[in-house]
This record gives sequence, structure tokens and C-alpha cells, in this order.
Amino acid sequence: MTIYFLPNERRVNWLARLAGGYNLFIPVKAGNGVHWQRFEKEQVDLDALALKEIRAAEPIKSFLFSPRERVALFPEPLEEPADGKPALLFGVKGCDLRGLAVHQKMFLEGEFADPFYSKRLKETVLIGADCPEPKDSCFCNLVGLKPYTVDGVDLVLSVIDEGWLVEVVSERGAKLIEGENWQPAAERQISKRDAQRQQAEGVLQQRNPKPLNPNLPQVIAERTNDEKFWAEAAKDCVECFGCLMTCPTCFCFLLYDQAKGDKVERTKVWDACYMAMYARVGGGANPRAKFIKRFINRFHCKFMHGKNQHGFYFCSGCGRCFTACMGKIDIRNIIGRL
Ligand code: SF4
Ligand code: SF4
Ligand code: SF4
Repeated sequence: MTIYFLPNERRVNWLARLAGGYNLFIPVKAGNGVHWQRFEKEQVDLDALALKEIRAAEPIKSFLFSPRERVALFPEPLEEPADGKPALLFGVKGCDLRGLAVHQKMFLEGEFADPFYSKRLKETVLIGADCPEPKDSCFCNLVGLKPYTVDGVDLVLSVIDEGWLVEVVSERGAKLIEGENWQPAAERQISKRDAQRQQAEGVLQQRNPKPLNPNLPQVIAERTNDEKFWAEAAKDCVECFGCLMTCPTCFCFLLYDQAKGDKVERTKVWDACYMAMYARVGGGANPRAKFIKRFINRFHCKFMHGKNQHGFYFCSGCGRCFTACMGKIDIRNIIGRL
């Protein structure tokens, strides 16, 4: 695939052009982290643009799988929202794409496809960005991912000192670079990118040298009733749900109905398996009334069912869960002991 080079002085113009056709979101440094922000040409500070940094604090699922969304109205049908500009996420990481892969399995490939998710996914443009500087929280290497994207996006961007290298992945991506008089990247620039990638892989390997147990799904199944192990793993948990709310792969939701005058409105909101009512069934019985059962469920979901049913872990190695965790519970220490 063709790789182009954009010198530093032309970056803003390209971003401004993209913002003409899309709701353009960029990752920016703010406080101790990186956060998604809408691009406004007048306010953009290229020094704050966080393309070399790790993934943003917020998972990209928030753009596609809304935390709260009206999904039906009775008796009239729900009006289609007016089509605004589609979203363009500029600087998506390899681990962000694992979240998308999980959600596509859950929302699009089952018996019913979620029309809301499907529409947003089709319309949303993704530009990937390498992670030349993985942080301590990153462990994508343990779940089969790389600190850069090669597909699943429209363009792949790599930052080098003198500008950006942009690799075209899709036809839609090719259109994004039309009209900018792009120069093909020089061999030495591509070698620089490749060396950065290799170095980032080395850093991850050094920080997370021990591979996961190749029989992890089976071991988790066998250890399900080992309450001593799980009680120790969960002893610092304060049930704040931060790990689930920030997780890019979590996909659970619940629906509730509310009367609005003479109409009834149905709303979908994110749910989380650590919540006490999550597994409650009609009649009030709850197979996971004890918290420890709910704690184990997260490991079943991410490291057992996902791998058994779809061939990959439902974890991206992004480290958001323990970055957010009030109890400082690092998931690597739990799965690493199994
Ligand atoms: S987990 Fe890997 S892909 Fe994700 S931000 Fe860190 S280095 Fe990048
Ligand atoms: S379980 Fe933790 S590391 Fe894995 S995808 Fe979720 S937030 Fe990221
Ligand atoms: S973020 Fe930590 S303390 Fe909060 S529910 Fe998750 S594991 Fe427990």
C-alpha cells in the first residue's frame, strides 16, 4: 500500500480540510492523560496533539455505542435523527480496534444486528496512529496485538520528526488525502517508521515478558470455584465499576421504558456485570448475588468465552481498567497467575 509524507508545516491545513467534511476528533494532552477533543481550527494547539502518546482515557466505543440512547418510541416510530457530519477519529490505536472487533461480533454478527451501531460504524472514519512510546499500563503484546495499526482503519499515520507518514488502507482513506499534493514517502522515512515500531514492540516485550498461559480459557474454567484465589484477587475491590465503564471491549447494556405523556420511550444504557442487579432474573433470583461471582464473570467474559467462541481475547491490553481502579487491581497480576 502506498505511503505518503506530509511535512509538519502542512499538518494544520490537512486537519482543517478534514474538519470541513467531518466532525473531526483528535487526541490531546490534558492533565495527566490524553483525551478526545473536537478539532477547531482556531483553537488547535499542535503541541498538545497526542498522536505519539498511548490511547486516550476514553475508549472510542463512546462514539459508536452510546452510553445512553433513545432507541424506540411507542406508539409512533422513532424519528431518524437528522444526518449531521459523520465522525472522523484521528489517532486510533491498535488496542482501540480490539474493542471494535468485539463489538462487531456482539452487535452485528448475531441473530439480530443493532441498526444504531451498524449505521454509526459505517459512517465513522478511522485514522490509526502508531504508539512509539508505550507506557507501563500497556500490554497489547500479551493479547496478540501490536503497538500500531495495519488494517481495520482508513489510513495509518506514523509521526516522524519532520512530519507524518500516511499509509492508505481503504478507498475511503484514499479520498481523505486527495488534493493535498502528497509526496510519496522516501525509503529512509519508511525505515525510520519501521525502526520506531520495532522499538515500541521491544519496550512492550521488556515490560510484559511472560506470555499468557496458552490454556488460559481452560484454566479459568477449572479455577471457577477456587474462591480462595478469586477472593484474594478481589480483596481490594471497592465495586466502583470504573474498570468496566472505561473498558473498550465491554458491551453489556440494558433497556428500560419510561412514560412520556401519552407516549412510551425506550432507552438503552451501558450496563456492567459487577452491578448487583445485573444477573437478576424474573422472580428476583440472582445467580450472582455474591460479589465474588460477579468478579469472576469479568474473567470468564474476557478471557474464556471470547477466546472459545470467537478466537480472540475480549481484552485489548489497554490498561484502562487498572488506571481507573480505586483498588489498584492490575488485571495482569490476576491473569498472569492463572
Ligand atoms: S496498549 Fe498497545 S496499542 Fe494500546 S496504547 Fe498501549 S502500546 Fe498502544
Ligand atoms: S479488561 Fe482492562 S486492559 Fe482489557 S480491554 Fe478492558 S480496560 Fe483494557
Ligand atoms: S475499578 Fe477496581 S475497585 Fe472498581 S470495580 Fe473495578 S476492580 Fe473493583
